Amino acid sequence: MGKKDLIMTPDTFDLQNQVAVVTGGAGVLCAAMCRALARAGAKVAVLDLREEAAQALAAEIGNGAVGVGCNVLEKDGVESAARRVVEVYGRVDILINGAGGNKPQATTSPELSFFDLPPDALSWVFQLNLLGAILPSQAFGKIMAAQRQGVILNISSMNAFRPLTRIPAYSAAKAGVSNFTQWLAVHMAQEYSPAIRVNAIAPGFFLTEQNRYLLMDRDSGELTPRGKTILAHTPQGRFGSPEDLLGAVLWLVSPASAFVTGVVIPIDGGFSAFSGV
Ligand code: NAD
Repeated sequence: MGKKDLIMTPDTFDLQNQVAVVTGGAGVLCAAMCRALARAGAKVAVLDLREEAAQALAAEIGNGAVGVGCNVLEKDGVESAARRVVEVYGRVDILINGAGGNKPQATTSPELSFFDLPPDALSWVFQLNLLGAILPSQAFGKIMAAQRQGVILNISSMNAFRPLTRIPAYSAAKAGVSNFTQWLAVHMAQEYSPAIRVNAIAPGFFLTEQNRYLLMDRDSGELTPRGKTILAHTPQGRFGSPEDLLGAVLWLVSPASAFVTGVVIPIDGGFSAFSGV
């Protein structure tokens, strides 16, 4: 990259002809990211456990997008998805590790104490969030290492800064994601190329399928006490919408953030800044 390329211009955010892979791409937050990447010009490979949903989203966003069924916890499957992406597009510029989530069985409640949380549910959450970011980073990171170029974006969480009540495995797993983000940023820059960058976003509270049961009462549609506490601790006074993530995502995957690696950016309406007083 020449010096003049580093000057910020309106097309610094342009992703024309870049190839972006998004795991969990058919989910609520990542589907919004896939659409934004395509609008910025990228060819998007939507990877998701739900193959049909991935293909439907790819058909909707167009611009050469493909939907690929892929379980981020199966190394062979992730590697074959990586081969497929290279077959279709010839390269990989951007990887967003979006697959992640929590489940009620790994969440404490009046019916389920911490002491009784079943190991298989705890393990499911650790695996999906942490190993599910590591395996795609190996498969697609290897391609980036060979290209000496690429950007990886992980999805951490508020839980990574300070754990939230009730969800110990998800909190620990997302803390792991933030830690892995820093580790991989250093490793890729030192071992392969300073042009390979690894960052994360840490979304605040977005009402989606994985957390609706914690934030809204199923019958009344009212906020739960937990939902109310979250809003009371969010200076901007609302839940985020998927579109709130897009500015930071496009910044972190584009040359606009060429000297940014190893950071975790909160997108949280001020939640992480507020002491509660
Ligand atoms: P979502 O449940 O809508 O999307 C997750 C997607 O991942 C789904 O499409 C699902 O099919 C897919 N998936 C699940 N297991 C998979 C696997 N093994 N392999 C491949 N794909 C798999 O969730 P979301 O709320 O859009 O969350 C996206 C990311 O953002 C997750 O990492 C989540 O932990 C994180 N996050 C969400 C919030 C929030 O408030 N919703 C806050 C912070 C972080």
